[in-house]
Amino acid sequence: MDIRRRLPSRELPAQNDDVVTAPPPRRGSDALPLPLYLTNFFFTFLFAATVYFLLIRWGEKISTSTPLHVVNLSELLSLIGVIASCIYLIGFLGVDFAQSVFLRSSSSSDDVWIPNDDEIDRLVKIESDLTSEEDEAIVKSVIDGATSSHSLETKLGDCKRAAAIRREAVQRMTGKSLTGLPLDGFDYDSILGQCCEMPVGYVQIPVGIAGPLLLDGKEYSVPMATTEGCLVASTNRGCKAIHLSGGAFSFLMKDAMTRAPVVKFPSVKRAARAMFYLQDPANFERLSLIFSKSSRFAWLQSITCSISGRNLYPRFACGTGDAMGMNMVSKGVQNVLDFVKTMFPDMVVIGISGNCCSDKKASAINWIQGRGKHVVCEALIKGGIVRNVLKTTVEDLVELHVLKNLTGSAMAGSLGGFNAHASNIVSAVFIATGQDPAQNVESSHCITQFEAEGDDLHISVSMPCIEVGTVGGGTQLASQSACLNLLGVKGSSDKEKAGSNARQLARIVAGSVLAGELSLMSAIASGQLVKSHMKYNRSSRDIGPSSQVNR
Ligand code: ADP
Repeated sequence: MDIRRRLPSRELPAQNDDVVTAPPPRRGSDALPLPLYLTNFFFTFLFAATVYFLLIRWGEKISTSTPLHVVNLSELLSLIGVIASCIYLIGFLGVDFAQSVFLRSSSSSDDVWIPNDDEIDRLVKIESDLTSEEDEAIVKSVIDGATSSHSLETKLGDCKRAAAIRREAVQRMTGKSLTGLPLDGFDYDSILGQCCEMPVGYVQIPVGIAGPLLLDGKEYSVPMATTEGCLVASTNRGCKAIHLSGGAFSFLMKDAMTRAPVVKFPSVKRAARAMFYLQDPANFERLSLIFSKSSRFAWLQSITCSISGRNLYPRFACGTGDAMGMNMVSKGVQNVLDFVKTMFPDMVVIGISGNCCSDKKASAINWIQGRGKHVVCEALIKGGIVRNVLKTTVEDLVELHVLKNLTGSAMAGSLGGFNAHASNIVSAVFIATGQDPAQNVESSHCITQFEAEGDDLHISVSMPCIEVGTVGGGTQLASQSACLNLLGVKGSSDKEKAGSNARQLARIVAGSVLAGELSLMSAIASGQLVKSHMKYNRSSRDIGPSSQVNR
């Protein structure tokens, strides 16, 4: 392929990704066309000799009362020698700034590296994933625009090959290397038409395990995909405190995914009529049958309408089995709208989503009415565990909670953010288990409570919008599916208990948030937060043994 970079012999790091325009920084060894040791020797000698000469000369001038600023040619040359050798030596010792200040202005054209013919001969090719000349021709036709990038999978009938060709074309067109973004080791067939279009590789995110989380009498090893140091270790510590205190208990209050289209009528009167029709209990059974036409797992639970002038936002809430349910609920809503249109022909469907749903946006309607799974989870942490494992006191935790999670969040005008870091845990578990990470927005709505109960601490998290599924979307991909399997909630549950896997996953998310809240709040209350972040975020050492410190 065409994309080239400077030869490693010019001491460029092998993985340098800026392949076209960035020249390697000038270094001390480039100053003379000599081997490095000779250049070093030359400048060191020059420095010593010129300084020695100048000192002798100044000594003579002082003894003969000659003004110091009157210099002859040899002294002037010596001064230039001192300055030049200083610049070289400072640069050689790693202070590139010194050289760049002096050299940049004189060679500003170096900022953009355009290889000349000689250099091109010395260039090396980036490792290519292409296997044949035919592939090479397809890459060229993608670059020319003769073949559209998005059609490669269909045209070639080979998803991996399509990804390799697209990747090559992208590198050439952008002039940037994708080295570091792996291509091999992924099943591109598994995402076709489902998860991601026009793939060129995949991002790797480490998965850590927190636990065991003792929840409702059962132990769970919780997979967390994150690049934030401390997060898994901290959640792990929370799990330990919960386990030693007898475990956590979860309660599912509601399970209903929502979709609210926006429909327009000629007048407020007509919009109001439609609203009364949709909300009339006498019509519910009929509407619910129509809603379920497109899926055996979708069952309508309620329709609540908001109205703005002649525009109506009917919010449909429905059970979706083990699916997170966005597709399912959208299809059901479309069925109902088609039917309502026959009764209200003057109704115009403006959009299948009118934002009262509310998907992937913080909203009071979600916070108050819920969306997805509404889970409340609690634990009673013994006073001794708070002191010995969490290194703080019940009193300090409760005070911090009131002033931070309640008062502080109120001062900030928070919406569903009355917690310490629910979204940290929600996001990590979501990514590991193939959930839609964008739904972290409302899924992380959470109010945490820390209350003293005698010597002990009662802690709870109330989360009204946990949007998870164990079928569909990213849940069927190999890595994510393995994480669901670890939790014992992979795929579809038994027919009679449809949805129990997804509901269990929501409980686990809430239980993990409980552990995360407990540990982070304790770290803050005891003043350990910054210390532990310095340890886990900055250290390159194996954290295995050192994580014991936090336990
Ligand atoms: P979503 O609705 O979450 O966006 P999909 O569009 O992939 O997800 O819908 C889920 C699909 O999985 C549907 O086709 C549904 O029939 C199928 N399915 C199989 N088993 C189940 C189950 N136990 N619960 C829900 N859906 C299931």
